[in-house]
Amino acid sequence: MEAKLHELKTRLLEIDDLSRAGAVLNWDQSTYMPPGGAEARARQMSTLGRLAHEKFTDPAIGKLLDDLRAYGESLPYESDDASLIRVTRREYERSTQIPSTLVAELSNHASTTYQAWTEARPDNDFNRLRPMLEKTLDLSRQYAECFPGYEHIADPLIDFSDFGMKASSVRQVFADLRQALVPLVQAITSQEVVDDSCLKQFYPEDQQKAFGEMVIKRYGYDFNRGRQDKTHHPFETKLSLGDVRITTRFQDHDLGDGLFSTLHESGHAMYEQGVSPALEGTPLANGTSAGVHESQSRLWENVVGRSRGFWEHFYPQLQMTFPEQLGKVSLDTFYRAINKVQRSLIRVDADEVTYNLHVMIRFDLELQMLEGSLSIRDLPEAWQARYESDLGMAAPDDRNGVLQDVHWYGGIIGGVFQGYTLGNVMSGLFYSHALQAHPEIPAEIAQGEFSTLHAWMKNNIYQHGSKFTAPELLERVTGGPLRIEPYIQYLQGKYGEIYKL
Ligand code: ZN
Repeated sequence: MEAKLHELKTRLLEIDDLSRAGAVLNWDQSTYMPPGGAEARARQMSTLGRLAHEKFTDPAIGKLLDDLRAYGESLPYESDDASLIRVTRREYERSTQIPSTLVAELSNHASTTYQAWTEARPDNDFNRLRPMLEKTLDLSRQYAECFPGYEHIADPLIDFSDFGMKASSVRQVFADLRQALVPLVQAITSQEVVDDSCLKQFYPEDQQKAFGEMVIKRYGYDFNRGRQDKTHHPFETKLSLGDVRITTRFQDHDLGDGLFSTLHESGHAMYEQGVSPALEGTPLANGTSAGVHESQSRLWENVVGRSRGFWEHFYPQLQMTFPEQLGKVSLDTFYRAINKVQRSLIRVDADEVTYNLHVMIRFDLELQMLEGSLSIRDLPEAWQARYESDLGMAAPDDRNGVLQDVHWYGGIIGGVFQGYTLGNVMSGLFYSHALQAHPEIPAEIAQGEFSTLHAWMKNNIYQHGSKFTAPELLERVTGGPLRIEPYIQYLQGKYGEIYKL
């Protein structure tokens, strides 16, 4: 068994090397690569991806997993080796169940569609994308059909990013959340609109960057095992556990954009930096699901980074960094500005309170498309109708409507949006448990001190990588399934105070 386990780990390490090399190429493409490199880079990344996929779906891996199954089950469930055998088997079965021809077809189709979307969105031309999107829907259904026995056709697709969740369980969470959010949004938006002009002054980029990096260093993001660079669409990427990078962007006249993007990505990165080194080079050395990953980015961006305590400590430093812009702006004015709530059309610019309504619209439309009750032809109209009924606004055009998010135009339809809201809900839940264990955390945050909170997250969540599924992790950490109450209480408490509800 020792020898077989060793062989499995050796093979997985080689596959991981190929995947991480692909991640380096991808990072470089999004940061420093000159445009002339695009064509060769696409080919190089696809070669590495294909090699990694071939090696992972090699029947020899299946044989090793079969031989190791009984051994794995004889070990304690949470041991590294038992988890490795269990999780690798799950991913192996998933990868071998999808024909490689379908993988290749979807990957080619996704890159063609993405290219077309980059031009069609500025041109506001949904019709040009319609035939492509129809094919995406067809391929997405074929993908789901590779996993028969589902309850809802979206379930296998939800599994890809949030393993263990189903359309029915997500629907239930979303319905409960909606009941609490709609009255809160109504109460807030019936009040006078908050003035956030203090954030829209000229802010030199170098100082924005230095301030954000000072904050995330204090959070515990380790620059010896990471770095931050500029890109168009911020992201976090793991090149190894010793090299977890983030990217951000800055706008001269919007202080919040760059700063909160840095805080957000640092949360994703601290999760990956906190994975136990013993898991390096295996499928366990990743965050466990889209939802849990997003819980960490949202925690450090919003629950901590937009809290009053946080700014009681950091605002004087921000004022010293930008004396002309903020010298005469009070902490209260600034705090209200960074927490401004308003009905809006664009998901990525939405505030904490309305954000989840944007996600629910997309999730519901995805389910309807997969079920066949909504055709691609009718999608733009359905989108508009939902924005009018849910947010009381209609987009002036598709560019600010159905064309705004890349997800459907660069991948599959189904399972790609729920993780954002699950992450928000989990951020409130995990934070409430950290507070139960350490009631001193808010006072520490107000001193610019984050080590207790960071250590709690690391011990309870980060170190395990993907040993546990999200439902298993929730059970271990919170003693039960996903609950929305702590998140709702967090929102009601914070915004009730800001808006004096
Ligand atoms: Zn994120």
